[in-house]
Amino acid sequence: MNAPGELKRQHVIDPEICIRCNTCEESCPIDAVTHDGNNYVVKFELCNFCNDCISPCPTGAIDNWRRVAQPYTLEEQFSWDTLPPDTSPEVAGDDDLPEEVQRITDIATQGQGGTAAPPWSAAHPYLNLYTLARPAEATVAGNFRLTAADTSNEIHHIVLDFGPTAFPVLEGQSLGVVPPGVDDAGKPHHIRLYSIASPRNGERPDYNNLSLTVKRVTADRDGNPVHGIASNYMCDLKKGDKVKVVGPYGASFLMPNHPGSSIIMICTGTGSAPMRAMTERRRRRMGLKEGGELWLFFGARTPDELPYCGPLMKLPKELINVNLAYSRLPDQPRQYVQDLIRERGEDIARLLKDENSYIYICGLKAMETGVDEAFADVCRGHGMDWSQLLPVLRAASRYHVETY
Ligand SMILES: Cc1cc2nc3c(=O)[nH]c(=O)nc-3n(C[C@H](O)[C@H](O)[C@H](O)COP(=O)(O)OP(=O)(O)OC[C@H]3O[C@@H](n4cnc5c(N)ncnc54)[C@H](O)[C@@H]3O)c2cc1C
Repeated sequence: MNAPGELKRQHVIDPEICIRCNTCEESCPIDAVTHDGNNYVVKFELCNFCNDCISPCPTGAIDNWRRVAQPYTLEEQFSWDTLPPDTSPEVAGDDDLPEEVQRITDIATQGQGGTAAPPWSAAHPYLNLYTLARPAEATVAGNFRLTAADTSNEIHHIVLDFGPTAFPVLEGQSLGVVPPGVDDAGKPHHIRLYSIASPRNGERPDYNNLSLTVKRVTADRDGNPVHGIASNYMCDLKKGDKVKVVGPYGASFLMPNHPGSSIIMICTGTGSAPMRAMTERRRRRMGLKEGGELWLFFGARTPDELPYCGPLMKLPKELINVNLAYSRLPDQPRQYVQDLIRERGEDIARLLKDENSYIYICGLKAMETGVDEAFADVCRGHGMDWSQLLPVLRAASRYHVETY
């Protein structure tokens, strides 16, 4: 969803290249593609950029996008012999991203209502310095398993060193990994995004390195066995291996820097990566007393599956309020991050009312609904209406979601 006056992203099909094979219509899971006797077209209101139609298309006609003030109607699209010229304005920020990254980012930020501005006091990010045509090369400086060896949930902490190559990042940004090799169709693998888990001055302060938190994907979202291309490649990397990296990306999920600004971080699994980066930034600057409060709500099945569990528990209490939810502890009721948000409702309500507090949510898409309901409950109990407050938070760049 876009705010009034904002440019909207529209998926269109190039009628000059399209061979009318119906593949896109068949592969769209939500019937957003349709056709008449002339053209195959995409219904603007329905398309959610899921990308399922892109790779099956034999010609690439499907891979076209526009940024428009007023979306093209179906009638207009049916009448096209050629695509209208791309008049999308050149704007700085996420709009400059390569189409592939833009598509992924659009899906990841659906929960926050689309592209959002960063907090007013965020540092200015560098974007898209390295592209597929000219990727950066990083060297693996370390690759450690974070979760216990006897759990199926394998998460790695991977340190990449950029040597003499500049790769400036901010907490909350991500980079793209280019997995080597080709897919079943013989095309190069597409890039995968990974959030940066270290603060802006490096995993090791003032070294030109950064860290990532990568989960080895061995099952798809329905639990069927699968071999995740990029995550397995990353988790198997050895010290000294070279990795092709593009980016950095992300101009929205950035931390506030002004004195007194508070951060509520809500995450599961590898969604902890940007939270670790922000926390570490604040920890390294504790003496400067510039931050407000830090609150972390972090969910995992067990402590053995919670990345960075040990270091988290050692953080100074005056730095951060850590709330850990475990959903699979023997003989314990299942607890999720949303339960802890409700338990801490008094503090959450206080922070929601404070215009210097900022919310960050990161992890699997499935967490969004529970967190949203918890905020609604907290608001109900404290004389606020979540449905009215949420747009206010979004407009003030105080509500950021990155889920995948
Ligand atoms: C903004 C952003 C930030 C991200 N940050 C991180 C991060 O910090 N750490 C991290 O590990 N991942 C992160 N991801 C996810 C990452 O980009 C990849 O999607 C993920 O590693 C799977 O890639 P793959 O190549 O291994 O699997 P693929 O070969 O692409 O997919 C194999 C199968 O696994 C399914 N699948 C994809 N991702 C997951 C998942 N997370 N869990 C279960 N099934 C999945 C796919 O639907 C597919 O069926 C992020 C994604 C986005 C959009």
